[in-house]
This record gives sequence, structure tokens and C-alpha cells, in this order.
Amino acid sequence: MLDCLTMKTVVENLAMVRHRIEAACSKVGRDPAGVELVGVTKTVPVDRIREGVEAGLTILGENYIQEARRKKELLSDLPVSWHCIGHLQTNKAKFAVDCCDWVETLDRESLARELNRQAERTNRTIPVLIQVNIGGEETKSGISPEDLPAFFNMVSEFERLDIRGLMALPPFFDQPERARPYFRQLRELLDRLRQNAASPGKLSELSMGMSGDFEVAIEEGATLVRIGTALFGGRI
Ligand SMILES: *Cc1c(COP(=O)(O)O)cnc(C)c1O
Repeated sequence: MLDCLTMKTVVENLAMVRHRIEAACSKVGRDPAGVELVGVTKTVPVDRIREGVEAGLTILGENYIQEARRKKELLSDLPVSWHCIGHLQTNKAKFAVDCCDWVETLDRESLARELNRQAERTNRTIPVLIQVNIGGEETKSGISPEDLPAFFNMVSEFERLDIRGLMALPPFFDQPERARPYFRQLRELLDRLRQNAASPGKLSELSMGMSGDFEVAIEEGATLVRIGTALFGGRI
């Protein structure tokens, strides 16, 4: 199946993904304009990324900061915004602030502190998502649901960090339907944060859903879906 995707052009894949996003939205009465597509480009060659952007992608997601820096330089002529979606080491915060528009993986205090410091240095405000370890998996990063309210309050004190919502990678299942309870839980966590937030309107983003399960995530309220394989084909 992956080979077959690889052979299709990015343009064809993008049209198919958009179609599937629209279908998922109409199933639950959502406006497709409320779902943004993040094209996940880890290991994808720049020519193929360029094809995607020329076909209409406006947000790219990168896992590794070094790779993002290199690609951003090669693609600097393209009007896209870059999201950091991988685990971010504190000593890479400087580069993340230099090359990413958003950081979707804020998962600890030391990183918040350093991102804030670097944002101050460049006189920027960085939109961030708090990563939640929704399945309580040891191998995954993220704040536990129990610790989220306190972590949110702590991050809110950093003037250069603009918290826009939550991000999660639920446990992997062959059947996407099984991820539904996790997506729903993330939405409920965001709802609860909004009830106590000073500016709830800003807390509107739920980054959840990947190639295998984005339709279910959209049905549960995703506003950002992070899609790699379904757009660019299998990764080498
Ligand atoms: C790789 C990756 C994705 C995209 O995964 P696909 O299954 O290829 O769509 C999304 N989010 C994160 C954090 C990833 O690392």
C-alpha cells in the first residue's frame, strides 16, 4: 500500500487527503475551514516538499530541528509556516525559535523557560501547543492529563509563549476507531482548560490525527491534522 502511495504524485495524494478531510467534516457537521493540514516532511526530499507546497500545502511539520533548518534554507522562497512536531531538546530551543513558526511539542518547564528566553532574544512571541501524553505511555513525551492544569498555569506566566492549544500522539492502533477515546479525552482536557483560562478564545487548537486515523480525530474536534505518509508516500 505504501509503494502504491509513493508512485502517486503529491498533488494527487493531497487532493485525496483534502477530500477525506471534507468527508469527515461533513459527517459531523463541521466546516472544513476549521481543519488545517500540516504536511509532515521528515525524511521527505525537498523536491517532493516543494511539489506539495505548490499544490497548496501551507504548513509543514518537522520532527528534527537540524533537518528543518537545512530544508528551510533550501525552501526559503516558499510561503509556508513551519511547525516543530518532534521532541525538542532544550539545547535546540534556540534553533527552533529561529526556524519554526510554531512549537507543537512543549512538554516540560525547562523547555518553556528556554523557548521564552530565546523568543525574547529575537523579540518574538511563539505560538505553542502543550503536548499531552494522552495514553500514559512511557515511550512518549508529554504532560500527563493530571499535571496539565498546573503546567498550563506555569507556562501562562511566560510572556513570550502564546499557548494556542494541545497536541497528542495517542497509542498506535491498527483500527483508527480505537484511538477515538484518546482524541475525545484531549478535546475534553482543552475544554476544561478553556473554562478557567483568562483568554479562552485563544485556546482553540487541537493537533491530533495522522495518516492512519485523521478522520476519527476530525470527528472528535481536531483543528490541525499532521499527515505524512498519506501525502508523501512511505518513508525510507
Ligand atoms: C511522523 C509523524 C506524523 C505523521 O505520521 P504519518 O503516519 O506519516 O501521517 C505526525 N505527527 C508526528 C508527531 C510524527 O512524528
